[in-house]
Amino acid sequence: MLRIRFHGRGGQGMKTASRILGSAGFHAGFVVQDSPVYGAERRGAPMSAFTRLAREPIRERGTVATPDLIVIADDTLLADQAAQPLLGCDEQTTILLNSTKEVADLQQIGHALAKQVLTADFTTLAIDTTQSLASLSVALGVATARLVGLSLADALVGIGDELSSHLSDTQRSQNTTLAQAAYARAKTWPVVQERLSTTTIERAVLADVAFDPPSLATPSIYASGNSPERKTGNWRQFRPILHADLCTRCWICFVRCPEAAISLDAQDYPVVDYDECKGCLLCVHECPTHAFTTEKEVR
Ligand code: SF4
Ligand code: SF4
Repeated sequence: MLRIRFHGRGGQGMKTASRILGSAGFHAGFVVQDSPVYGAERRGAPMSAFTRLAREPIRERGTVATPDLIVIADDTLLADQAAQPLLGCDEQTTILLNSTKEVADLQQIGHALAKQVLTADFTTLAIDTTQSLASLSVALGVATARLVGLSLADALVGIGDELSSHLSDTQRSQNTTLAQAAYARAKTWPVVQERLSTTTIERAVLADVAFDPPSLATPSIYASGNSPERKTGNWRQFRPILHADLCTRCWICFVRCPEAAISLDAQDYPVVDYDECKGCLLCVHECPTHAFTTEKEVR
């Protein structure tokens, strides 16, 4: 059985990536299971999703504690106590990290990464190809499919299953282009080896479903009131920049920011808290005087 664990933030599409992989695996003839865990559901908060692929009936349930492959949607999750994406990995675990940084750079800033770490910047690839961050799920779902040895054709069927019903023809075509590019990028990587199950379960025993500790099963709510500990602006891709000379102080942005990341200064001008701003750009779209511009984040 192959056990794959996805780590991301609400809004990054990791549940969808897990489902694309599951669907692709199903079409390739695997027995498949995929499921997400959100904890406190909140855009930008850490979440996980789990996919199991096997040639025999899957008796395991719940979270994946000892993954063969870990997929991490952005490197800021490595330092997030609520996410702990490296939990349960060992020498055999492969890590696919969506990042602009090299492994050596990440190790230098203190991230204890296992031996087999593959990094690539799928965010830029997704934005450049589809003009949308939402398609990160396609890029990472397909790259993961390649890593476990599935074909591009199966991955494309997986994308069709999960996304096609609510996409325009243009979006579908952009996703196909993105999938081809993500698959090609991942093609140089080794295929993840199947890890033999350490437990043999002869038959399904429903009463044996394991309950993981809260730190694993509901990582976002491991302690009460811990939301302020996490800087949910970490994963922002585009930054709103206020040009005060164009601002009429109507406060529309202040009222409409879904994260309450905009406050007012002593003169009643809006001030963006970049620790919490998630880059949804609603303020940019809603401002009647176009007082905000946007800038791509560089980390
Ligand atoms: S982009 Fe604007 S509306 Fe969105 S979270 Fe940031 S400040 Fe709020
Ligand atoms: S919506 Fe635009 S004009 Fe109104 S307060 Fe915000 S930045 Fe200023």
